[in-house]
Amino acid sequence: MSKPTQADLVLTMLHTRPEGVCGTAFLQFHIPRYAARMGELREAGHKIGKRRCDFTWHVHQSPQWVYFLEDEPEQMPLYRTEATG
Ligand SMILES: [Zn+2]
Repeated sequence: MSKPTQADLVLTMLHTRPEGVCGTAFLQFHIPRYAARMGELREAGHKIGKRRCDFTWHVHQSPQWVYFLEDEPEQMPLYRTEATG
C-alpha cells in the first residue's frame, strides 16, 4: 500500500464534508498548498467548486474560500466492491 498523498487527503475531506471545506481547515491538516492540490484533483477529473466562506461561526481576518465537490464523473472508480479470494 502506498502512502496517501495530500491530494488524497484533500479529496477525502471533500467527500466527508459535502457542505464544503474552508481553506483554513486544510491549514489545520498541514496542507498549506491546498489550492495546488485542488488543481491536481481537477486535472484528475474531479469537479471541485468554491465559494466565499459563509460559515457564520468562522471569523477570518481576510476572506477565505470554501471548496466542495460537485457531481463526480461516473467512471471514477472510487468505490470498488469486487470480492477478493
Ligand atoms: Zn471559513
